[in-house]
Amino acid sequence: MTTKETILIVEDEENISDFIATSLRAQGYRTVCARTAAEGITLASSLCPELILLDLGLPDQDGLEVIRSVRSWSLLPIVVISARSQEKDKVEALDLGADDYVTKPVGVSELSARVRTALRHGMLAAGVRSASEVFRTGGLTLDFGRRQVKTDGNEVHLTQVEYKIVAFLARNAGRVMTYDAIISHVWGPYMDDNNRILRVNMANIRRKLEKNPAEPAYIFTEIGVGYRMAEEDSPPEG
Ligand code: CA
Repeated sequence: MTTKETILIVEDEENISDFIATSLRAQGYRTVCARTAAEGITLASSLCPELILLDLGLPDQDGLEVIRSVRSWSLLPIVVISARSQEKDKVEALDLGADDYVTKPVGVSELSARVRTALRHGMLAAGVRSASEVFRTGGLTLDFGRRQVKTDGNEVHLTQVEYKIVAFLARNAGRVMTYDAIISHVWGPYMDDNNRILRVNMANIRRKLEKNPAEPAYIFTEIGVGYRMAEEDSPPEG
């Protein structure tokens, strides 16, 4: 599985939004567009994209409100792309938690460079030490850089959501992650009554990963609390 990152573009001007989306899709990213601040906030929490590209001059609310809202629950990288070029605007956006600030108009190569950097920061913030890190426990391997999961050397095809759950547990291997922590990492905090959806996803994950899903060897259930990934193998000697 090589699933590219999802990038949410919050921009009300269609031609700019199309230009950005087309450039990013040509590089293999998935893109989703929102035209208003409200739509951007909703999509940020329902999709949990790896990156948000954010315009500030939006028709319903100032784009700064999107930063404020997303930062109340997530560290996912936000890059502002705005016509506002004054320093105070940049400082305000960065103080609120934006990762970067690009002044319009922006060219394709500058855009790509900013996107790559922001995604790298996002991975570091999420606890991935480098893009090539590989997690191993028993016959299970997870390559964070390639977003690739294998059991006993065979590639396993996970959905985006299944991958996010497995990757989150692997980054916290050996520790119990509560249902709420997993849910808010994967779906955002605004989803109600979602334990059932998590259980359904976990059943599918186990069917794909475990030799005997009834006696899991990789992802354990802590009843009433959450799930725990088996501890990572020690690196080979020498
Ligand atoms: Ca605008």
